[in-house]
This record gives sequence, structure tokens and C-alpha cells, in this order.
Amino acid sequence: MAAQVQLGYCDPGQEMAWAKAKTNAERDQRKGNAMRIAAGLIFASAVSLCASGAAWSQAAAPKGAAAPQPVPAPAPAAAPKSAAAPQAAPAPAPAAAPKSTAAPQAAPAPAPAAAAAPAKAPCANPNALGIARIVEIDTTGGPGFGFEHFKQLDFLREHEVVLTFDDGPWPVNTPSVLKTLAEECTTGVFFPIGKHATYYPEILKQVAAAGHTIGSHTWSHANLNNKKLTEDQRKEEIEKGISAVKWALGGAPFAPFFRFPALQHPPEMVTYLGTRNVAIFSCDLDSFDFKASKPQTVIDSVMKKVDKLGKGIILMHDFQKHTAEALPELMHRLKAGGYKVVQMRAKTPVQSLAQYDEEILKDAKLPTVSSRPVSSVVQTISE
Ligand SMILES: [Zn+2]
Repeated sequence: MAAQVQLGYCDPGQEMAWAKAKTNAERDQRKGNAMRIAAGLIFASAVSLCASGAAWSQAAAPKGAAAPQPVPAPAPAAAPKSAAAPQAAPAPAPAAAPKSTAAPQAAPAPAPAAAAAPAKAPCANPNALGIARIVEIDTTGGPGFGFEHFKQLDFLREHEVVLTFDDGPWPVNTPSVLKTLAEECTTGVFFPIGKHATYYPEILKQVAAAGHTIGSHTWSHANLNNKKLTEDQRKEEIEKGISAVKWALGGAPFAPFFRFPALQHPPEMVTYLGTRNVAIFSCDLDSFDFKASKPQTVIDSVMKKVDKLGKGIILMHDFQKHTAEALPELMHRLKAGGYKVVQMRAKTPVQSLAQYDEEILKDAKLPTVSSRPVSSVVQTISE
């Protein structure tokens, strides 16, 4: 990490969250990322670096492409569903096909009905936190949200909060967060790491199926203020993160919402995202959930800060075990405190760049000709 970076209010959290990642997979990956980026070998060694944590669902094999990273998987929650196989090929159905150039596309023609959430069942919990308001974000020009860094757009009313979750998808913890949000009939914005999305595409699909908003959070969680990174590498981190989420979601549309790792905002990348019409999310208050030794600490931290501010975009990590464990009680506390959840949706979906979509496919190690869903390939005939 560059020594000269300045950490904002929320920044140490993100930085430390990564440093304190509990699993060997995360540590290995983090080391691997740093080495790889430093060596400029971003695409070369995903499997060896991520072997301990990676899972690649056969069901998630992209259409006409290889099944990437067939590595061992301790992923109980990553079991593939029998849903249709995702189509990683060129473009999501409603979206304009990305051009085969890396150049930013200023204001591409927006696709209709961008991030429309799936229809949801009526809420069965009369005491649920619920969703008080849904706002649609026009991301043209890359607006910034979260007063820690961006103070132009003060759209939340008193006692309104936005729940945001970073660094997933991850087994156990992300599904636990989804369960709690479902029980509370409420919603959040998820910022998955591209690599994690490729390890656990089925979990990310669950996030989408539940109607939550999904953005992106780079390919490998690199600190984009790291001076060792070239501009092309910074763009690659952003773009490949978007392409990975697209791949994991099977081409389904998702939001042009982006959060910088460790909330490190290189000005030129902020400008770049503006040309890509991607909104930037900082936060208003950080849960510091990565530091928590127990769930209660997460609850106390969030409530203390939100009570002080009166509203805000809350940064949490669905990647973190304590956060997942804290969430039911935290939802109750927010409800009791009179807080209301606002859902942020995008007016139009993000447009990935074809060059980086192809890079995701290149990571495939064992090519296969089949793109059929697992339910089509494997049938239980006796049990
Ligand atoms: Zn993060």
C-alpha cells in the first residue's frame, strides 16, 4: 500500500477490514493481489492464488466459454442452483452491446427498465423495518454519495438510512445477511468484489433475486491510490470488477454504482467514472464492523453514529461474520429508533466494456463446450 495515502473517516475501516480478513483464502488472495498487481500480471495466476477459497460452479459456466478456476471449494453456500446457466456472452439482453474498445463510453444509450427488482412477496412481518422510500439515481456524470467524501447530494431525510454491504459475496455470511434483510422486508446496496463474484456467482445471484441493488467494488480490492498502479491498471480494476459481476449475474442488469476499496479516491479515477456514468459511493458512517470482536460492538457502533448524525449511508460488510450475526438486532434497534430504510436503485444499468468481459472469460482454465445448467447435465435418478 502506498504510504502517502490519506485515510478519511471511513477509510481505516475498509483498509483494516481487508487486513483482518479472517480466512486464509482472504489473506492468500490479498497477498496474491498485491504481488500480482505489482508484477503487472493481473490475469495470469488467479487459480494458484485463490485456490483455497475458490469455487467455480459448473452451473455458472459462461456460455460458449470455459469454466474458470476449477479449484477446490469449501463453499457450502455456493451450491449451484438449478437456474438457467448465466450467459457471459456479449451483452445483457436489454443493454446496448459494449463496444470493443477500452475507451470510456460517454453516456451510452440507456437500456430500458434497468435495475428493476424482481417482484417480491408481501411482507409477512408486521414489525419489519421495511422500505420507506425508493429513490432512482440518474448516474449520468458519475455523482458521488456519502458525506465522508461527497457533499453535494444531501438527499436523505431525517431518520432515513441506506444499508450498504461490501466485499461479498461470501458463503454463510452473505446468505445470513440476505435472510435477515428478507425477514425485515428491507433492502441494501451490495458492492461485491469481482473475484468474490467469480468464486460464488450463485450467492450473488441470490442477492439479485432478493431484489437488492448491486454495484461493484473493483476486481481484486486493490487500493487504487497505490502509486505502483498505472492508470490502465486502475481502470482495469474498475472495469474488470464490473465485468465479473456481470458474468456472475449471468448478464442480468445491475447498477452503475461503485465503491472504491478503502474509500481511496484517485481524482483521475473519479473523473473516469464520471465519463462512464458510474455513481461513486463513499459513506456517511462506517460501522467499523471489521474491527468488532463481537456482534454487539457492530450494533453499538452503528447506533451511536446514526443517532448522532440522524441519518446516513451506512457502510457494513456482508463479508464479515460479526456483521451477519449483528444484523437481526441492529435491524430491531433501527426500527425502534424510528429509522427508515431508503432503497437506492439505478435509472439505467451499468454498461460493461467488451474488452474486460473477455478478460473474465480468459481466466477460465479448463475450457468446456457446454453451457448447460447443472440441472440439465446432472439428474438424480436414485437416492
Ligand atoms: Zn471493501
